[in-house]
Amino acid sequence: MSLVIVGSLAFDTIETPTERKERIIGGSCSFAALAASYFTSPQIVAVIGEDFPQEFISLLNRRGVDTRGVTREPGKTFHWEGRYGDDPNQRTTIRTELNVFQDFKPRLLQDYAAADIVFLGNIDPELQEDIRRQAQKPRLVAMDTINLWINTKPEALVRVLKEVDIFFANDEEVRMITDELNLIKAGKKLLSMGPSLAVIKKGEHGALLVGEEFMFGVMAYPCETVIDPTGAGDSFAGAFLGYLDRTGSFRPEDFRMAAAYGSVLASFTIEDFSVERLKDISAQEIEDRLQALRGLVSF
Ligand code: AMP
Repeated sequence: MSLVIVGSLAFDTIETPTERKERIIGGSCSFAALAASYFTSPQIVAVIGEDFPQEFISLLNRRGVDTRGVTREPGKTFHWEGRYGDDPNQRTTIRTELNVFQDFKPRLLQDYAAADIVFLGNIDPELQEDIRRQAQKPRLVAMDTINLWINTKPEALVRVLKEVDIFFANDEEVRMITDELNLIKAGKKLLSMGPSLAVIKKGEHGALLVGEEFMFGVMAYPCETVIDPTGAGDSFAGAFLGYLDRTGSFRPEDFRMAAAYGSVLASFTIEDFSVERLKDISAQEIEDRLQALRGLVSF
């Protein structure tokens, strides 16, 4: 099996109630690829500017991530700035500077185009559409998005939705797209727009999976230390799809396990800024949290 991840490699500026960090490593692709790397060897497609550190690309390589699909272009790397209030589930986007993303024409290398699973991580839906067309015959296509694209490119977003099997989004985004407050109804409405599974992320309250004849809820792993929630959603999706790529089967029971691993990997991401905690986790730490999560919900 093989997994291709398309998304942003970015600089993030993050403000929490206690700290501000300028231009730290972020991006949907960074978090998703690192989380997936604990299960499989993902291939990534992204664009970076002249200012992006080669050391991070080397770190991805050391974790088994295939970065041949990353192109470096003249100009600056994508930069996103976000602020969290006292409630870590609430965040405000302060700034989005597309920079090299502005003229990006993503190309799937020949071997990437044959991938079994394609993850269209959070980037401009027109780029997601372009990549979707280049994938030859994937067994599973998943996508994620963010409120910027729901507001600015709704038509393109709806077109991509039609072409995917799994849609990852947080509760706020799902409500915006479907105009439906009740998350079960919203999930079902999403299924009528294309995907066969909606994965609705609810921050510290976990995630809800809504399929045609299947529903599953997973708790977030209970963390006492939450430093920076950025990338939790991408880490959830990366681990979810990395696990599916490793097992090669897409039954409801596989989706349940994938969601549990998604929660576990997201819990590491939020314990520090950027990818600091996510970049170095032992297999034992992952299994310990999985067992703890199982213990919390079995009765
Ligand atoms: P998450 O917290 O999982 O929703 O993802 C946050 C990450 O998404 C940050 O590291 C940002 O760099 C990245 N991001 C934010 N807005 C965009 C955007 N419009 N396009 C691509 N990536 C973005």
